[in-house]
Amino acid sequence: MKYLVRFSERVKRMLIDHTFKDPFRECGGFLYGNLDISSDVTICDVNDIYYEDKLGTDHDFKFYYAYIIRALAKENRDGFENLIGTYHSHGQHPAFLSSVDHDELQKAFGSDKITVVYSPKYSQMIGEFLDKDGISHRVKILTKQ
Ligand SMILES: [Zn+2]
Repeated sequence: MKYLVRFSERVKRMLIDHTFKDPFRECGGFLYGNLDISSDVTICDVNDIYYEDKLGTDHDFKFYYAYIIRALAKENRDGFENLIGTYHSHGQHPAFLSSVDHDELQKAFGSDKITVVYSPKYSQMIGEFLDKDGISHRVKILTKQ
C-alpha cells in the first residue's frame, strides 16, 4: 500500500504560515478534505484547515477536548469537508512523530486519519496515516497547483 497526502498550494501555505506565527512554540490545527481508501493507493486530499490561536510549549501541543469538538462541528459545514486529520508544529525541533504523537494524538483521533507535523526551523513536513489495524504508515506529501 502507498499513502499519499495532497495539499492544495494555498492550504499548505496557510499551514506553514500558522506555524511561523511563533516558530518557538508548538501550535496545531485540523485538516479537512477527502479520503479515498478504495484502491491500492490511499489518497488524502487536504482542501482546508481550521485552527485557533492557541500555543503549546516549545516541545508540546495538546489538542484539548473542547478544541476537537469545535473542529468536529465544522465538518461538512460552511464549506468545510470531512475532518481527515490533524497537524501540529514542532517549533525548533525536526518533524517526526514522537511517542506522544503516536500513543496519544494519533490514537485519540482513531483510524483512517492523517497526522501531519511541520518543523518551521527545518522547513520539513512529514505525515503518517493510521490504518484500521492500528498500524501507522508514513505518507508521501504532494502539493497540487
Ligand atoms: Zn509532535
